[in-house]
Amino acid sequence: MDIPDLDDAVRFDCDVLVIGGGTAGTMAALTAAENGANVLLLEKAHVRHSGALAMGMDGVNNAVIPGKAVPEDYVAEITRANDGIVDQRTVYQTATRGFAMVQRLEKYGVKFEKDEYGEYAVRRVHRSGSYVLPMPEGKDVKKALYRVLRRRDMREKIRIENRLMPVRVLTADTPQGRRAVGAAALNTRTGEFVAVGAKAVILATGPCGRLGLPASGYLYGTYENPTNAGDGYSMAYHAGAELSGIECFQINPLIKDYNGPACAYVANPFGGYQVNALGERFVDSDYWSGQMISEVRREIESARGPIYLKVSHLPEETLDSLESILHTTERPTRGTFHENRGHDYRTHDIEMHVSEIGLCSGHSASGVWVDEHGATSVPGLYAAGDLACVPHNYMIGAFVYGDLAGAHSTGTLDDVPPPTDLPADQLADAHELIYRPLRHPDGPPQPQVEYKLRRFVNDYVAPPKTDTKLSIAVETFDRMTHEIAEMGARTPHELMRCAEVTFIRDCAEMAARSSLVRTESRWGLYHERADIPEQNDSTWGYHLNLRRGADGTMEFLKRPVAPYLVPVPEYDHLPPADRSVIPIAQPEIRVGRAPSVERERAMAQPEQAVSLEQAASPQIVALLNLDEPTVTDLQAFLQSDDPQVRATAVSVLTENTPEGFSAALIGALGDSDPAVRRTAAEGVRELVEVLPEVEKIATYLGSADPLARATAVDVLRARHAGRREQFLEVLADPDHRVRVEAIRALVSLDEWEAVAVAAADANREVRVVVAHGLATIARGGAEAVRALAADNDPLVRAAALTAFASLGCGEQEVGTLVKGLRESAWQVRQGAARGLAGADPDLAVDVLAGALEDVHLDVRKAAVLSLMQWSAKPEVRDALTGALDDADADVRAYARRALVVEGAGTPVG
Ligand SMILES: Cc1cc2nc3c(=O)[nH]c(=O)nc-3n(C[C@H](O)[C@H](O)[C@H](O)COP(=O)(O)OP(=O)(O)OC[C@H]3O[C@@H](n4cnc5c(N)ncnc54)[C@H](O)[C@@H]3O)c2cc1C
Repeated sequence: MDIPDLDDAVRFDCDVLVIGGGTAGTMAALTAAENGANVLLLEKAHVRHSGALAMGMDGVNNAVIPGKAVPEDYVAEITRANDGIVDQRTVYQTATRGFAMVQRLEKYGVKFEKDEYGEYAVRRVHRSGSYVLPMPEGKDVKKALYRVLRRRDMREKIRIENRLMPVRVLTADTPQGRRAVGAAALNTRTGEFVAVGAKAVILATGPCGRLGLPASGYLYGTYENPTNAGDGYSMAYHAGAELSGIECFQINPLIKDYNGPACAYVANPFGGYQVNALGERFVDSDYWSGQMISEVRREIESARGPIYLKVSHLPEETLDSLESILHTTERPTRGTFHENRGHDYRTHDIEMHVSEIGLCSGHSASGVWVDEHGATSVPGLYAAGDLACVPHNYMIGAFVYGDLAGAHSTGTLDDVPPPTDLPADQLADAHELIYRPLRHPDGPPQPQVEYKLRRFVNDYVAPPKTDTKLSIAVETFDRMTHEIAEMGARTPHELMRCAEVTFIRDCAEMAARSSLVRTESRWGLYHERADIPEQNDSTWGYHLNLRRGADGTMEFLKRPVAPYLVPVPEYDHLPPADRSVIPIAQPEIRVGRAPSVERERAMAQPEQAVSLEQAASPQIVALLNLDEPTVTDLQAFLQSDDPQVRATAVSVLTENTPEGFSAALIGALGDSDPAVRRTAAEGVRELVEVLPEVEKIATYLGSADPLARATAVDVLRARHAGRREQFLEVLADPDHRVRVEAIRALVSLDEWEAVAVAAADANREVRVVVAHGLATIARGGAEAVRALAADNDPLVRAAALTAFASLGCGEQEVGTLVKGLRESAWQVRQGAARGLAGADPDLAVDVLAGALEDVHLDVRKAAVLSLMQWSAKPEVRDALTGALDDADADVRAYARRALVVEGAGTPVG
């Protein structure tokens, strides 16, 4: 291709320019449009399936749901997880607005897990606070958002340009000072140069996921979505904005050899946990943090390594549920990966490792410095999502900050004149940055240069960090500026990749220099300075911010941590009394020698993508090519003779939800082919919150297909659209999966008598659900639970004994529980220890203290959790103090927590 003339730039104008159409960007665009702005949304991929949301959302990691958690506790927890270095005002926004965001997303059709009563089924994953809200259909979040973006009212306000990649934010001097006025971009398909004028710019380009090189050696096989190459970090820096905490890297636990999260988050509430090769639990940290990752890495490298996510001990139906989340919602290739290795969760635990380093605020704390509205230090420029420095903000924080930035930027529009002439020098620089690889097409290709750059990142920037290694890194990244300028390209796509390498280099330099400047160790592995292992609170109660100085060099500032809104006893000493911002010089660069050892890299299986051309039938190709099809357009496909075509048509119907889709979707539950019915059932469950005329599904209570019957019951329960009589009738269904749904529906109506009748069911799974259901209602059914406590199946007995915690227990039940503690199946002993929480402490405490000596770690943990409520009693404190020396990390940590809570911040032992 030829270099386009600078004067031929395509020009767009808007009120609010949103760069990046992922989680934060789509929400920013929607809110700005709702507030009346004309929005331009630029996405380098395609908004429909771009960004982190496209795959892998198993749940909201940080939901503060009223009644389940309180914002202040969450803010304190995030302060601890970040070793005190947080601006609590920003975290507080996520804590207080996350719930409204969950409800807004629900209106868009996003599904969150709820219990039988329709209450959010928040899970306790961390040792304190319950913030994890599972999303059984998490893979569909992006689809739901895209449907809203394409609603007519939104389409009129939001112009989406896919395959357009800004490379620089433009700034200009205005009467209000220097502010953002637009962006310069590349059309990655046509190669056109694009100039955008905007009154406000929101950067939502996600993390820098392509910083370190993954162990697999694949450039794009990163933990993070690989299109996120640090574009926003680089653009914000060149626009003069401050960035913060860049030395606090992101490193995550992964499945060994497979770049997906291990998902302990998902597995732990089901009973999974991390163990070393000796079978010991070893994680002592309470919350996901650099400290935790440090423990993980230490264990892997010790004689006790490698480490595993232990699941092989779980019962069959739990593993079925886990697989259905991890191999569908999380990512389908995960199932294939394990299968290719011949690994099955029934026989193999999942070996874990740690990921490459990256910059990300979502899981860590490195980002563009923002206030509690998402505003950066450059007027008119906002940042949201993983790019904005709001620690541990994850998905819900990205939505919250997209919303905040969208609202705040729109509120300023009246005071800002529309930019007319865009800065010619900046446009020329951006043009040069984009097109220079065309001038020497035979220059080193991008993959080679990027590989080399990121290998240096692994070698010299990844922890453990040292002054010498970081100095070599700085020198190397400086030198590589010239190599990068020599890269060659021939196509618009290659130009995009070359520009990305410049972003990665900028991020690498920022990471190395910041790591050199913070002369202490903090955040566990994220900033582990092997040469300065101490944490120094008196010198470093500061955010380390950097920006591009007037002379073009990088300059650093220490910004004092703001006084806490929420006290955190361990860190209340940290915010400096003197509130001055202190400029800080960079240490002298001391150049050392590069190691000569080459790393060996394991090769993983490439993912198989199915192209349209490979699709089985020309009808499917035609179907997938339809743009915004109506129900009439889809009719012929829905009636095709080929079941594959019908199933695809049902998926398209679910994805697009055209006017009148509901009848066709529900109707497909009656299809003659099981695969079509399964697709319809998935679609109905995906859209359960937004399905119109939901009562119509009751017809399928009498379907011949148990999957259709179970789906009908589930939907009627979730939408409170079913009657008691209907549910009672299906309680006699021949298929146990339908009966399980019937019980959940009856629990939602508090029908404990009907639930109790099912205690005699022939199926073990049904009886387990009955025990859980009676515990949930907690109004009656003790007789049935007593019967279940004598069941032949150990898992049923375990569930029944656990139920006594909610139903309460007298002397007779305590006798049963004590007997349960002597059973050989550990699950029953664990259930008994849990159930004793419902007994009188005079009867329970001694027995539970004895259970602290059990050989199984989960029984001991259950005993600690049951004792926790009585931790004011001296005999309980004695027992818990003994548990501080337990061999198991979880038992120790919960005991410590119980004693700290009761002792108001004074750990015992
Ligand atoms: C594997 C994985 C699993 C996760 N699981 C969970 C979970 O279960 N629960 C949870 O709460 N959180 C989870 N998270 C975190 C959560 O997904 C993120 O915090 C959140 O989605 C970040 O949103 P974002 O908008 O900042 O980034 P993204 O959603 O990634 O969006 C960034 C977008 O910007 C585009 N872009 C980048 N550069 C440019 C450019 N120059 N021009 C135009 N467009 C550009 C990208 O293509 C992308 O579409 C997970 C993250 C990952 C990676």
